Formats: sequence, structure tokens, C-alpha cells
Amino acid sequence: MLRDLATLLLTGELPMKAVAVLPGKPSSVHLRDVVVPDLADQPHPHVCEIPEGRGVLVKVLQIGVDATDREINEALYGNAPPGGEHLVIGHESFGQVLEVGGKVTEVKPGDYVSCTVRRPGGSLFDKIGRNDITSEEVYFERGINLCHGFLTEVFVDDAEYIVKVPKNLKHLGVLSEPASVCAKAIEQAFLAQHRLQVWYPKRAFVLGAGQIGLLATMMLRLRGIEVFTLATTPPPQRKSSIVEAYGATYVSSRQKSMLDLAKDVGRPGLIFEATGNAEVCFRAMDVLAHNGVLIWTSITGGTHEVAIDAARINLEWVLGNKLLVSSVNGNRRHFELGIQALSHGELTYPGVTENILTHCVSRLDRYQEMMRLLEDKQALKVFVNVAE
Ligand code: BGC
Ligand code: ZN
Repeated sequence: MLRDLATLLLTGELPMKAVAVLPGKPSSVHLRDVVVPDLADQPHPHVCEIPEGRGVLVKVLQIGVDATDREINEALYGNAPPGGEHLVIGHESFGQVLEVGGKVTEVKPGDYVSCTVRRPGGSLFDKIGRNDITSEEVYFERGINLCHGFLTEVFVDDAEYIVKVPKNLKHLGVLSEPASVCAKAIEQAFLAQHRLQVWYPKRAFVLGAGQIGLLATMMLRLRGIEVFTLATTPPPQRKSSIVEAYGATYVSSRQKSMLDLAKDVGRPGLIFEATGNAEVCFRAMDVLAHNGVLIWTSITGGTHEVAIDAARINLEWVLGNKLLVSSVNGNRRHFELGIQALSHGELTYPGVTENILTHCVSRLDRYQEMMRLLEDKQALKVFVNVAE
């Protein structure tokens, strides 16, 4: 149970705990006291205001962490909201509604919810509810850039950004954000492929079997596509069993290269890249079928130079009318799509997706363990159980 939540909320002044970093300072992750928000608070007044009566107060249950959190702690990116030095991290949220404003009809106290990450900037895309494709250089993301995140006990936000998770899916609720990222990327690729008038990909390669690669494997299988998921570690192990339980084929790139696989089974019409390795992003260009689409989702920090035969790739891509689609983040509609896919996946492959949730950290004050687990190659998904 949350520590004396009622008291905290009544006084509004007693501190609650939050996991934060000092952006720009490597390994600065720490636990700190922050003020408990109230329904009428404005969490990011420097970006957007919650319209009167549209606030939702959420008790945090579980927060997922990923490489983004590790890189923020390594000071590779991330900025504090103006006026302070710290950034509360955590962008993969799952919680339960405590209280809603008078003009909120979409959710009610007790509902399970997730919350989107990005808040609108000033571009046309932001104004039409597509802040996930903002054209501005600076973006505002809870727990990542210029807005506090969710690794705390209670948060408030606009009902606009709160997405309902069915009660029967609460065991997978913490995967809502990663699922939104996958659902958006796949939807973007299919939307872009309308350029071809008819396009029904039969075969896909998913590169990488981290949480994104595995969820993409599931979502592509749900569309009836034959999926080959490539990752380094030879089978059998947890990732390969999850891939196989989704009815896809796991291939260790140590045992068979992407090129050899394409020679054996045929070139894929769709490639979903999620390895986090910049070289693989480009090597994937070598195996895509004519009229195919390559989706890039990896966020690769630092620099990494590779030599490629640019003339050959260009020739093959032009002669094959091939397409590259990059995708990041997701707005509330993508969260809804992701949650629908998780639900559909649970009915089609019961009990499989929860195997992605490998490492549970029991409380916020175990944040050091949380950071350590992010280094562990065996850890597929690390998440913090903030409250029951
Ligand atoms: C998050 C996205 C975010 C991206 C860039 C990812 O880890 O899942 O929501 O847009 O980082 O900051
Ligand atoms: Zn993330």
C-alpha cells in the first residue's frame, strides 16, 4: 500500500519519494522527496496547461525502465524542467486512477491506466494532437526531456493523455508504452505502403529480441505474417521460447546471418529493426524485398561509423522501389492500438507476453538495483513495483 496516501493528499505538503537524476551529471540517479501533487496542479506549465476540470490524479503501480533511462543516467541526454536541476525519470507508466476533475468522463477512480510520454510543442502537428511527430527540434517528454516522469508515487496529468487499460490486462499494463511504440511503427509502415495500392507482406524479419522486438513479433504474427526474429544469443533460451510461442521462428545471427536467412527463406517484404545497433540498421537494407518497407526504431547514442557499399544499396533500392520508415514515440491513439494488440495477443497466445516481464524491483528505494539490472543482458524487461 502507498504510505498513508490519504494523509499525503490531504496535506499536500508531505513529501513522497521519486527517482531522479541531475541531467548532465553521469551516474547521478538518486531518491528524493518531492511534493505530492493535487488534482488542480499543473505538472508542466512551461509546456501546456491542463484545462479546468480535466485533471486526473493517478497512483503509480508499476513503472518500466529501459535503455533510455540508463542513457539519461549516463548523461547522454535528458534535461530538467526549467527552474530546477533534477529530472524525475520513468516514462513507461501503469497506475490506478485516484481522483478525476469534474469534466473528465473517460476514466473514473479505480480504473487502471497508462499515460502518454510526449507533450505538445508549437508545431502544426502538435496542434492537431500529433505531438508524436512534432516538427520542432525540442520535444517535451515526461521522464526524458524537460518534463518530470513517473518514477514516483502519484502523478497528475490531463485526461487527454491518460489511456485506460482493461482490468483483465493489468498484469501487462506496464507494457502499454513499449506496445504503443511498436503499434505506431507498424501502423506507420502500413500507412506509408498505401503508395503501392496493393501490398500484403507475407514474410517479415524482426531484428532484435528485446521488449520491442518481441512485441513487434507478436503484432506482426497477429496480422498473419510469417515472422523470423533474429537476435545474437543461440537458442534455446527465454527470448527464443517467447518468439516460438508467438508462432514465429527464432534465428541466432551467430548461427545464420541475415543474408543467409534471406537466401534460405526468401527476402522479407517488411523488416522491423529494433537491435539498438546502428550497423544492423544499415545492413538490413541489403535483404529487403522489392517494394518492401524497412522500419527503424532503434535509438542509437554516440557515434558509430560503418563502411557500406552505398552504390549497390542505392541501385537496389531505387530499382526495387524500397521504403525506409522511421518511427518514435506514440500518442494516445497509438497507446490504444498497443493495448488492443496486447489484449488480442493475450487471447491468441495466452500467458506468453508476461514472460517478457523478467525483472521486478520491489520498491522505489531499490533504484540502484534497478539501474544495475538495466546492464544485465539477461534482463528483458525491468520494472519497479511501486505499490500494490
Ligand atoms: C520512448 C519514447 C521516446 C523516445 C525518445 C523512448 O525510450 O519509449 O516514448 O519518444 O525514447 O526520447
Ligand atoms: Zn522507452
